[in-house]
Amino acid sequence: SLLAGLAAGILSTLLCFYYLTIRMSSGREILAGIKRHQFSVVYQPVLDTQHQHVKGVEALMRWHHPAVGPIPPDVFIQYAEAQGLIVPLTRHLFSLIVKDLPVLQQCLPAGAKLGINLAPSHLKAASFQSDITQFVSQLPGNYFKLLLEMTERAMLEGDEVLESFNWLHEQGFDIAVDDFGTGHSALIYLQRFPFDYLKIDKGFISTIGQETVTSPVLDAVLNLAQRLKMETVAEGVETADQAAWLAKRGVTYMQGYYLGRPVSAQRLNEWYCKLPS
Ligand code: C2E
Ligand code: CA
Ligand code: CA
Ligand code: CA
Repeated sequence: SLLAGLAAGILSTLLCFYYLTIRMSSGREILAGIKRHQFSVVYQPVLDTQHQHVKGVEALMRWHHPAVGPIPPDVFIQYAEAQGLIVPLTRHLFSLIVKDLPVLQQCLPAGAKLGINLAPSHLKAASFQSDITQFVSQLPGNYFKLLLEMTERAMLEGDEVLESFNWLHEQGFDIAVDDFGTGHSALIYLQRFPFDYLKIDKGFISTIGQETVTSPVLDAVLNLAQRLKMETVAEGVETADQAAWLAKRGVTYMQGYYLGRPVSAQRLNEWYCKLPS
C-alpha cells in the first residue's frame, strides 16, 4: 500500500503539472492570477554613478503562483505576449504601481524616474495611448518622470511601433533601449527612434573587473551612446569595482545587486530610503 500511495502521489503530481501546463499555455492562469492577486511589483533603485544617490526606480513584476511558486517574469511575460494578454497584465501592473505611489513619493526625491518595461506587442495595441494616458493621469503632478524601457526587438516591429515611440516622445516621457547589445541590434534604428537612454545589459557589466577580459564591445557601446548623445544606464552592477569603473568611464546611471535588489515599495521605504546618503 506504500507503493500504491507513492504511485498515486506521482500520478496526481503529473496530472497537476499537466493541468497547469494546459492552463498556462491557454492564458487562463494569468487571468486567474490577476483576479486572485498573485502578481506584485518590486522596485529596484537606480543611482547616479558620480554620487551614488537614488535617482529613480525600475518597476519589475513578480508572480507568486500558489502551486508552482515564483514564476520568473521572463517566462510569464512571454506567455502573456503569446496569448495576447500583455495589455491586461500591464494595466494590472499600472494599478499595482498606483497603489504604491504614496509610499514611493515619501521615499523618492521629486523628479525621480519611474522605469517601466513595455512589451513590443503593447506598443502596437489600439489602446496603447489611452493605457499610458490613464496611468499618467493618476501620477501625482510632475513628481515622477516616466521612463519607458523597451528592448531592441521592439524597433524591428514596424511603423506602428515607431508611431508609438514618437507619441511617447511628444508627451515628454523618456525612452530607454533595454538590454542593449543583446538583441538583433540594428544600429540604424538608433538614429530613427527618439531614444534618451541606452541600458547596457548586465552581460557586458559582468566582464568589468576580470583582468583578462576587458570588453571591446562595451567600450564601443559607450562610445556610440556618447556620439548619439544618449545617456547610459548600466545594469547588473554587482561589485564596488564595477561601480567605480562605470563612474570613471562617464556612465550616467547604474543599478544592480551591489546597490540594491528589487524590493517591495514598503521595504524600499523602510530600509533603503532611510539610509543616510
Ligand atoms: P530587465 O528589464 O532587463 O530587468 C533587469 C533584470 O535584472 C531584473 O530581473 C532584475 O531583477 C535583474 N537584476 C538587477 N540587478 C541585478 C544584478 O546585479 N545581477 C543580476 N544577475 N541580475 C540583476 P527580473 O526582475 O527577473 O526581470 C527579468 C525581465 O523580465 C526584465 O529584464 C524584463 O525584461 C522582464 N520584466 C520584468 N517585469 C516586467 C514588466 O512588468 N513588464 C514587462 N513587459 N517586462 C517585465
Ligand atoms: Ca528593464
Ligand atoms: Ca535590461
Ligand atoms: Ca533582461
